[in-house]
Amino acid sequence: MASPAPKSLSLKALAYVLAICAAILAFEGWREWSAHDAALAKARHEARNLARSMRQHAEDTYEIAEQAVGMVAYELGTTGTDAARLGRAEAFMLHLLEGSPRLAELTVYDATGHWLVSTAASGPEVEDRSADDVFARHRDSDTLAAAFAEPVPNAAGDALLTTVSRRLEGPSRRFAGVVVATIDSRYFNAVHGKVDVGPRGAITLYDHAGHTLTGEPFTSPIASSSVALFGPRPGSGNSGDYEFIPAADGVARIAGFDRGARYPVTAVVAVSRDEALADWRHGALLRGIATLVFTLAIAGLGLRATDQFRRRLHSDAVLKQKEGEFRLLAESASDLVERFAADGTRTYISPAVERLTGETPGELLGRNAFDVINDEDRPAVEAAAERLRQGESEQETVAFRRLRRDGREIWLETSLRVAAEPSGQFSVVGVTRDITDRKELELRLEGMALRDGLTELANRRAFDTALAREVALARRTGTPLSLLMIDADRFKRFNDDHGHLAGDACLKSIAVLMARAARRPADVAARFGGEELALLLPATDLAAARAIGVDLCRQVEALAIPHPRNLPWAVATVSIGVATLDPRREDAVPEATWLLGTADLALYDAKAQGRNQCIAGPRRFRSRLVG
Ligand code: GH3
Ligand code: MG
Ligand code: MG
Repeated sequence: MASPAPKSLSLKALAYVLAICAAILAFEGWREWSAHDAALAKARHEARNLARSMRQHAEDTYEIAEQAVGMVAYELGTTGTDAARLGRAEAFMLHLLEGSPRLAELTVYDATGHWLVSTAASGPEVEDRSADDVFARHRDSDTLAAAFAEPVPNAAGDALLTTVSRRLEGPSRRFAGVVVATIDSRYFNAVHGKVDVGPRGAITLYDHAGHTLTGEPFTSPIASSSVALFGPRPGSGNSGDYEFIPAADGVARIAGFDRGARYPVTAVVAVSRDEALADWRHGALLRGIATLVFTLAIAGLGLRATDQFRRRLHSDAVLKQKEGEFRLLAESASDLVERFAADGTRTYISPAVERLTGETPGELLGRNAFDVINDEDRPAVEAAAERLRQGESEQETVAFRRLRRDGREIWLETSLRVAAEPSGQFSVVGVTRDITDRKELELRLEGMALRDGLTELANRRAFDTALAREVALARRTGTPLSLLMIDADRFKRFNDDHGHLAGDACLKSIAVLMARAARRPADVAARFGGEELALLLPATDLAAARAIGVDLCRQVEALAIPHPRNLPWAVATVSIGVATLDPRREDAVPEATWLLGTADLALYDAKAQGRNQCIAGPRRFRSRLVG
């Protein structure tokens, strides 16, 4: 029969363990996700910072270019472009270029667009600028502000060239040409190459129209971005970040951008998202493994504990159930059911005790069971209990006497069986019933089997048993054993004269005297057969036995039971033959037949010599008499 309580309890415990594990995993997951977000935010922040530095650097470069063209224009002044001036201007321009590796080339063009002087040894990249938009702008406008041109590929096609230029004026502010500073994209590439943005990262510069100044590592990263970097009003201020996946390689990237205010330049720093999160991912893997191992260990321990908890609940429930069943059976049983601890203390007693002994369970609980047992029976009960304790037997049945509350002695029979206490300690369960009636019947039957019905003396069978036992004892201990054979005198005539009933009564009277003569516990008075009686006296020598016999003869005569034809006494008398088996005497044969035969012969002598007397045997003349 399954008990539902432990099951639901253990399910609860299991759910509790799993909930703890889930909570640990959830907390760790949340923590990791936070760390992931923090790593991402840090990468975005760094990309933005780096973009600001790169933008700053680019603006500085343009500033240097602007200053350079400004200084060259100032140097040339408004005085014309004769050879001497151009020579000085060239020296000055070379000096400027030496101080700034950022500029690739400084060139002065005349009013027609042809170059006059250049820092490039083999001539400038562009020899004639007459068709240039920017050149036309300088020519047609009288502003002296620097102008920026869109980047164009160099002649070799391996770099982009950006120019910063300024109008040259002759006398009366007449257009005299332009000074052009060229910046090579390879310079930016070299600087950017020294900045670590990871193998898949890139730094790119754009002008405000969205043309790249440095070459584009990805195909239009901006196209996939929702951030407006270019145009007159960029979307989200001068700096920011975004994520994009270029179609070219499909690698997700984090980008930071910064838009210049002084010059039309925007720096974009892109790093691979994977690379930015690599440290976090590595840490997360290790922490994840540790968390998983830790959680599994907790789950394992928890499940084990739950299992043990379930088993304990189950065994507790089974024990409780068994105890309940035991009590139910015990309390409804008519027999007394008890449970004892190893030392005999009662740990349970059923209500049946009240009917059996008149005592209440409360009075006996916790008391020692041996205390109430009759002293004679107690050793046997204690021995049985010891056998159970030692494991020599599983079950014992003992019978003993004890007193009821009302003082009456009763016989009880207890079946004892070893049982496990709910606590697991040794205990014994006893089932007790009242066997007083049975015991009394037994004793009565025992008496009937060994007692003569008429005289109530021991019968022949009991006498034979006692004789064999006492002969053996006499032989062993060397003590004398005496036997008196008693025979009523002329009893046939008594019967004839008074009838058999009177004969029986007479025999009974003689038997009473015999029983009295058997004073010691070991003495046995018996009806040997017919009107012959016997008195067996252990540890009694011939003289003492003869004295008892003589006394018995006198007592019977003194009863004065009339027997007219038993003359000369005219009262009932007996003749007695006495024999003693004395193992120390040579003429005694230590056997029952010898004792019986000798006493019988002595009785024969007593009859022969006139009756109503006691004769001791053996007599030497006996054989003559008989013969
Ligand atoms: P003796 O003096 O030689 O012994 O003479 P006796 O008549 O007594 O002879 P015996 O001992 O042979 O007698 C046996 C008689 O005892 C026979 C029987 O009538 C009588 N008798 C034996 N058993 C009983 C008995 O149980 N009741 C009665 N009433 N008489 C018995
Ligand atoms: Mg006889
Ligand atoms: Mg007789």
